[in-house]
Amino acid sequence: MTKIWNKKYLKCIGCGETKKPHKGHGYCTGCYNKSEYGKRNKAKWRASGKGKYWYHDYDQKLKIKAIKHYSNGKNCCAICGYDDIRALTIDHIENNGAEHRKTFNTTINAWLRTHKYPKGFQVLCCNCNWIKEVERRRNKADYTLGRRNETT
Ligand SMILES: [Zn+2]
Ligand SMILES: [Zn+2]
Repeated sequence: MTKIWNKKYLKCIGCGETKKPHKGHGYCTGCYNKSEYGKRNKAKWRASGKGKYWYHDYDQKLKIKAIKHYSNGKNCCAICGYDDIRALTIDHIENNGAEHRKTFNTTINAWLRTHKYPKGFQVLCCNCNWIKEVERRRNKADYTLGRRNETT
């Protein structure tokens, strides 16, 4: 949640900026982190040990969003209808997942969000995803076998 500047703080008391969101105690996000409040908060945060899971939790939220989007709000597998979100994954319809993943260094969930959920993805459960992967590998095996025969 980003807070807007209110009557108490018309602008950031650190840099005077009004365009950046208000983070707390009169500071914008950037200045807050440098302020004593920010430092204290950071120390508290470190001591709590929550940081370890923060990224994972955040990614889970993005995952739920992505799944909701690609399953049209049904939150289930496109093939069998399985609906336990823990076992649902985002699948590249064109099987280009490996190459696609090389082009960014965040998670697929974060990538989808920053690219506004483009077409070409679907929601599959782990079983259907794995079956698809097995079929893909089998096709690829035939392909590479064929190529090997060609070159030798
Ligand atoms: Zn500031
Ligand atoms: Zn399924």
